Formats: sequence, C-alpha cells, structure tokens
Amino acid sequence: MNRLSFFILAFFLLVSCKPATDAPVPPAGKPLVCVVNYPLAYFAERIGGDLIAVHFPKIDGDPAFWKPSRVDIRKFQQADVILLNGATYAKWRGTATLPDSKTVDTSAGFLYLLLKVKVDVAHQHGKAGGHSHSGTAFTTWLDLGHAVQQAAAVRDALVRRLPKSKKTLEGNFTALQNELSELGAELTRAAYPLAETPLAGSHPVYQYLASRYGLKIKSVHWEPEMMPDAAGWEELAGLRKKHPARIMLWEEEPAKAIAAKLKEQGVTSVVFAPCGNRPAAGDWLTVMRANISRLGAVVPKK
Ligand SMILES: [Zn+2]
Repeated sequence: MNRLSFFILAFFLLVSCKPATDAPVPPAGKPLVCVVNYPLAYFAERIGGDLIAVHFPKIDGDPAFWKPSRVDIRKFQQADVILLNGATYAKWRGTATLPDSKTVDTSAGFLYLLLKVKVDVAHQHGKAGGHSHSGTAFTTWLDLGHAVQQAAAVRDALVRRLPKSKKTLEGNFTALQNELSELGAELTRAAYPLAETPLAGSHPVYQYLASRYGLKIKSVHWEPEMMPDAAGWEELAGLRKKHPARIMLWEEEPAKAIAAKLKEQGVTSVVFAPCGNRPAAGDWLTVMRANISRLGAVVPKK
C-alpha cells in the first residue's frame, strides 16, 4: 500500500468510525449514564457530579409514555449505566433491547410496595395522543422514602462503575439523602391537616403521594391544557358524589377556562407537579419544595 492509499483508507476508516448519532460523547474516562426520567437524572447528577455524563433525552410530554426513535434507543444502548425507574415506567422499555449488565431498575428494592392504579379512568387524548394508566402506578418518587431508595440504587450503580470514587459518591448521596428526608418531613407536615379532606387528582399519578402521606385522593384523567368534554365533567361530578373534593391537584397549571369552570363548581386548583420531566425553571428539589408549600397553603375544606 502506498502512502496516499494508506491515508485515503485511514480517512475512510475515521469517517466510518464516527458515531452515526449525536449521542453525547462523555469526556474521556467519564461513564455515560442514561436515565428514563428527570428524578433519576437529578439524583445521578447530584451523586455522580463531574465524575459522570448524564443523558436524559429532551422529551415533549410525559417521559413515561415517550416513544423513542431508533437513534434515541441507540444512545441508551451505548451507555455505561442505564437507570430505569421500574414500576412499568418508560413503556418503550418493552420494545427495545438494552444490555442487562448495564441496566439498573431503581425501584426493584421496593417491588413489593408498588401500587396498582385502581381504576383505569377514561382515556384522554392530550398533546401526545391517548394513553392509559392501567396496571402499576409509576410515580414512585412522590413517596420520598421511595425516592431515597431510588437514589441509593443510583449510588450503588455508580459505585460499581467507579469503585475508586466510592467515598465521593457516598458523600454526595448522603447530602442528597438529608435533603430528601427533610423534604419528606415538610411534606408530612403539609399533608397532615388534609388527612380528612377529600382531594381530587386531575390525573392518576398521585398514588404514592396519597399512600405515604395519608391523603385521600381520587383521580380523573384530565390534561391541564385540554378542556374536558361532557363525559369528563360528568365523571368528576360522579366522583364528587361519593368523595366531595373541593380541591383538585394538577400536574401543572391548568388552562384558565378549566380552572374557572372548576371554581364555579366550588373546586380550587392546586399544582402538585410530579416533575417526571425536566422543568422549565429550577430543579427537582425546587419544584418539590414549591409543591409542598402550595399543599401547605391549602385550607382544609369539608
Ligand atoms: Zn396520563
């Protein structure tokens, strides 16, 4: 082979070796950690800090019902660590093969405490199309005790990958754990006065919140930006006959017209964001703190 053909060959080899996707290439030596939701991204970022590169894809809508492209899946397959929420979160999981040895189900430690969605309330069609919540409830982290266990699973996965950084990872975890425990105490205090107050959920995502903090929440399946149809309003009326809720929890601020119509019926809207996706402002902890302060400001109504 002469020099020219060697360089041509080397050039083509280089070009063909270039990743076909824009998968984030972590700086040399940093493990790539792919996660399926924002709570896990936040925990990984807090615990791993500069030692890792966290990849949480930009997702429009609820990451639980995300439909990744082949390119998106390839990014996960290239990861050094894949953090799953478990509890049937990330419905796409069943359609893609991920390397078992790199995959961690962060809720496996409390598998026996997972809750079922009691009734699969009417299908609603939001921005991202219709979806169903039948089966296992998946917003596990709204029980902050579960959130701590999931963060511990993240720590363990990172320690396995970076054993030399064990002390740093454990220290970062402890700092996070303290904040989560404090948050749990605040949530307990905010929820306590509401123990006897029937609450409505606009979306069936509050099972763990209700169970852990003694709240009585029954949910419809509405979207904040979509005026419910007549059947939707009837469903709420039916729910309130047995469960006279005058407060409705929302994943985000509902459209003004919905909030106004609820108000006419004596129902106040309160935002309690599960924060499964990356928020426009702040981080997981600030969103949770804002949730708790709104919940704490609710005056019990009977
Ligand atoms: Zn939903």
